[in-house]
Amino acid sequence: MTNNKEYSNAEVTVFWKPDICIHAAECVKGLPTVFDPNKKPWVNLKKASSKDVIMTIDKCPSGALSYKSYGFITRRKQHRKIGNQIKCSSKRTVNG
Ligand code: SF4
Repeated sequence: MTNNKEYSNAEVTVFWKPDICIHAAECVKGLPTVFDPNKKPWVNLKKASSKDVIMTIDKCPSGALSYKSYGFITRRKQHRKIGNQIKCSSKRTVNG
């Protein structure tokens, strides 16, 4: 069983994998109105634009946060854990 969560609006679905979150707080520092660990749910996509949410998720160092967007940006990101390091490779396509 997993504790993974999903949060959606009309433009983006945000995925959170708590098991790999390293609590670096880049999300909370970057967009505190959206990512607030003191609230339930802790992700509120109504508090910022989808573009700002995506830009903040891009800074997540562990890959615990990822997203799928509908229309304007698509991104594939893969993380591999090698020893204590997390390697990230991402491909991004921006349309229009
Ligand atoms: S930025 Fe990523 S690793 Fe850091 S607290 Fe947020 S979800 Fe966890």
